[in-house]
Amino acid sequence: MAQPKFTTHHGMVDILPDDVRKWQYLEKLIHEEAEKFNFEEIRTPIMEQTELIVRGLGQLTDIVSKEIFSFSRGDDNYVLRPELTAPVVRAYVENHLDQRGGSQKLYYIGPMFRAERPQKGRQRQFHQFGVEVIGSDDAVADVEVIAFMIHIYNKIGIKNTTLKLNSIGDPDSREKYKEALKEYLKPNYEKLSDLSKKRFEKNPLRILDSKEEEDQPFIENAPVITDYLNEDSLNHFKKVKEYLSDLGIDFEGDPYLVRGMDYYTQTAFELISPDLGAQDALAGGGRYDLLVEEIGGQPTPAVGFAAGMERLFIACEELGIKLGSEKKVDAYIVTLGDKARKWGLQTLPKLREAGISATMDYMGRSMKAQMKDANRENAQYAIIVGENELDEGKFTLRNMKESEEESLSFEKIVNKLTSQHLQQ
Ligand code: AMP
Repeated sequence: MAQPKFTTHHGMVDILPDDVRKWQYLEKLIHEEAEKFNFEEIRTPIMEQTELIVRGLGQLTDIVSKEIFSFSRGDDNYVLRPELTAPVVRAYVENHLDQRGGSQKLYYIGPMFRAERPQKGRQRQFHQFGVEVIGSDDAVADVEVIAFMIHIYNKIGIKNTTLKLNSIGDPDSREKYKEALKEYLKPNYEKLSDLSKKRFEKNPLRILDSKEEEDQPFIENAPVITDYLNEDSLNHFKKVKEYLSDLGIDFEGDPYLVRGMDYYTQTAFELISPDLGAQDALAGGGRYDLLVEEIGGQPTPAVGFAAGMERLFIACEELGIKLGSEKKVDAYIVTLGDKARKWGLQTLPKLREAGISATMDYMGRSMKAQMKDANRENAQYAIIVGENELDEGKFTLRNMKESEEESLSFEKIVNKLTSQHLQQ
């Protein structure tokens, strides 16, 4: 085959019709389950102001320093959203969602963009679903967010997962820890990666999230933040763990889990799957009690998670889980002659009106070729129409799987197909 003249960008993929069915299945499941949790969907623009992402996520994060797609046009700086927490908080502040009262329990599904080096489970355009609960500092909110995340994987059948849990405390605890971490790293400062050197003064916690080889030995033995939590932070963490245990949700403490954005406070968590290979994180999240204020709103606590949809599908493949039904159509009208073809075109809307999915040949093919096409489309029934059938008002209904035919009035065909449809 000739090389195509145009291709997608590196790390960006088309989702083709055969694949879309599993996406639709997952999206439908998320909408249905979110409704049960009383989460409301929010949709924000694909592009945001660059400054929002820089301020929100932090200048020294991998995402902001290396991975954002941004450009300017006139006086405006645009960024393709790399995540949705900062945009959702921006929408919350800009639209005064606090005035709706109570805490806002929001969820989203959509594409994100990060200029990472593509590999299995890591794309430049990928999709996340996630939840943001804005306005509650109660551990109940943390636990409901985590419970929803795990609930979706359980519903799909991905049960062999590990929930990693940490607390990175409030700013007061974190300041003390930062000093201890710097004290510990100082003797080996020269051996740290360039990026970690840059992070040392301004944002030493980021060093724990470093992927650079040369930093790893120092991360392994670093002091742990949980030893530096003050009473409030400890109490919150204790409650989160207690409520998770009450719900029977297992977790593993990971004192070095800091997550990739600076906005996190207190609870931080990640859901890991052994079925994913190198990119083993299915989802992650935590509290971000300072972000609303950082973005210009009133001080408002919040907690959320984001889950990678491509990685969920990779886990399904590894586990042999098939999502979504196969392609099919209830009825294919097979016609012989112009009059029948016209009848077919006029009959399609009547079938669809009755809730029956229906199609016909668009290419003027022979009857034999139409039957073949009906098979290819996985039609459950063929309605076969020629001049005689039109004169008699009776049509051949062929059950394609059973290869059985009967001659019926149009009314009876509709009744039969509708009842079949209801049984499925
Ligand atoms: P993050 O927003 O970095 O906390 O990521 C949350 C989840 O999104 C991760 O656990 C992954 O499942 C998924 N994810 C993040 N980056 C990518 C990427 N480049 N390609 C595919 N999935 C990703």
